[in-house]
Amino acid sequence: MISIRGRCLVGILAWFAAGAAHGQEPVLHLWRMELGRLEISEGASDLALAVGSLQKPFVARAWAQAHPDAPSPRFTCTGGDTCWLKKGHGELGLSTALTRSCNAYFRYLAKATPLPQLADSLGGAGFAPAPANAEQAIGLAAPEPLRIRPSRLLGAYRELLREPWPLGEPLRREVLHGLREGAHRGTAGGLGAWGLWAKTGTVALDAQHTVGFALALDDGGLAMLARLRPGTGAQAATALAAPLAAHRRGTPATARAGDLVTVRLFDLLPATGFTVLNLGSSPIPDGHGFLGPGAKRALQPGDRVGPGSLELGLEARGLRRRFQGRLQVTRGHLLATLSRRTYVEGVLAAELPFGDRGLRVELGAAVLRFLAQGRRHVDADVCDSTHCAWFVGQGPRLDWTNPARAREAAAEPEPEPLGEADWGRIEALGKVPGPTFWTGHCGGRPLSTQHVWGWGEAVAAPCPRHSTVTAAWTRIWPRQALEKAFGPGIESMSLEPRAGPWGLTLIRKGGRKTYGYDEAHRCMAAVLGWDALPSPADQLELTEEGLRLQGVGQGHRVGLCLGK
Ligand SMILES: [Zn+2]
Ligand SMILES: [Zn+2]
Ligand SMILES: [Zn+2]
Repeated sequence: MISIRGRCLVGILAWFAAGAAHGQEPVLHLWRMELGRLEISEGASDLALAVGSLQKPFVARAWAQAHPDAPSPRFTCTGGDTCWLKKGHGELGLSTALTRSCNAYFRYLAKATPLPQLADSLGGAGFAPAPANAEQAIGLAAPEPLRIRPSRLLGAYRELLREPWPLGEPLRREVLHGLREGAHRGTAGGLGAWGLWAKTGTVALDAQHTVGFALALDDGGLAMLARLRPGTGAQAATALAAPLAAHRRGTPATARAGDLVTVRLFDLLPATGFTVLNLGSSPIPDGHGFLGPGAKRALQPGDRVGPGSLELGLEARGLRRRFQGRLQVTRGHLLATLSRRTYVEGVLAAELPFGDRGLRVELGAAVLRFLAQGRRHVDADVCDSTHCAWFVGQGPRLDWTNPARAREAAAEPEPEPLGEADWGRIEALGKVPGPTFWTGHCGGRPLSTQHVWGWGEAVAAPCPRHSTVTAAWTRIWPRQALEKAFGPGIESMSLEPRAGPWGLTLIRKGGRKTYGYDEAHRCMAAVLGWDALPSPADQLELTEEGLRLQGVGQGHRVGLCLGK
């Protein structure tokens, strides 16, 4: 049986108290499958259920079977009666349609697929009865819903992750991409964890009441399903976050890793052309034998070097990075395995190499809390780019303002080392609640995770050091740079209203697209550098020179403020 600890459940229920229909207490049921074993929380069973949009990936599979070798179609959702989102999703491809769970897109796929193929794919996954029309195939309840046993559903999603589709493997990849994105910023964004594939479903019970479903998978063989009644799919995803994180923290895989952290190094660059140098005074095992003290050699995919004191280099770009640990080269990435302390020191060296000792301890604790939330990449706990946390090992620090040309920062003194006493304080403080994120400068107006990413806390704690608006900035994005970053044909741009998560909306002929902060930041950085969007902008104005943006602070402005 899954134990749902009282503390988590209280938190979840408090969160839902506001949204629960007519004071009815929401009930959360959980199903967990790991290594083929099913566990069910109290009060739930393995009887067949209607799960709504969780059917959608299998509609995509049916379409692929009916259209071998065809690329996935694009479709414009105009909303209204055709989709749960009344204003419409605009133009979508398969993976985005799945991330946003667009009904209009999947109805279009289902209508373009003969019924026998829909029945074959949905039936093969475990859904019954066979769908009689497109509505039923996409999980809408006319005339009666399809149902599936939770154990079959979890098994079918695991298979989706592992088994290629003989007809339409590229589409399966798009489906997986859509599920991946869903766990970050889609309908399942409430999971608030990385390294997952996820999908939600909302099933109407009657005119006023719905049941929410959220299903999440990781690549360690874990699959979990949550049902929240009453609730929506998005709420079920938020409710699943705590039990899922608790289970993943306690899994044997994590326990084996113990004190270790895996980091993707130089994540913004291809993992080719690097060399490794032994900085230590004794030979280091390197898979081919040993790398002698002071010896250096080229790295190839498949290499494993260490543990030891290493320097990774990319001469062509003048890049170096020193660290203590092990190095593994895969086809796509350079993966370092370090102790937690070494990782924390490497983030401190990047973000706060000098300065206030108390603040360094607070940052170290935030880094530990951040790590405790679970891994953020399939093959690593974290990357070293701003996607996760800026990490420079034992230096040198790099100037990443232009992502295409990282350079070593100007000569500067070595970062202050972290003493035993401070490490002890960091470990103790990391165990008590506090900020999980940190940012360059709050600008006097810290933001919540809800405001920036659309999940988690809705209200930000005030910054103890900046109570008035400060660190204001203005940037101009020339029209040409804009089109280079976001593509041609932009007709207008706007900022999403304050109520929802921050977003930069672009309107083009035939469609609109909203970019979240990280995405907008990354797109612009490729053209004008990382400083092009210092933080989520407050104002936007079209001028003769281009788009003029104004804002305050540096970074996402969530969590611990590192500003002077
Ligand atoms: Zn839609
Ligand atoms: Zn990352
Ligand atoms: Zn501040």
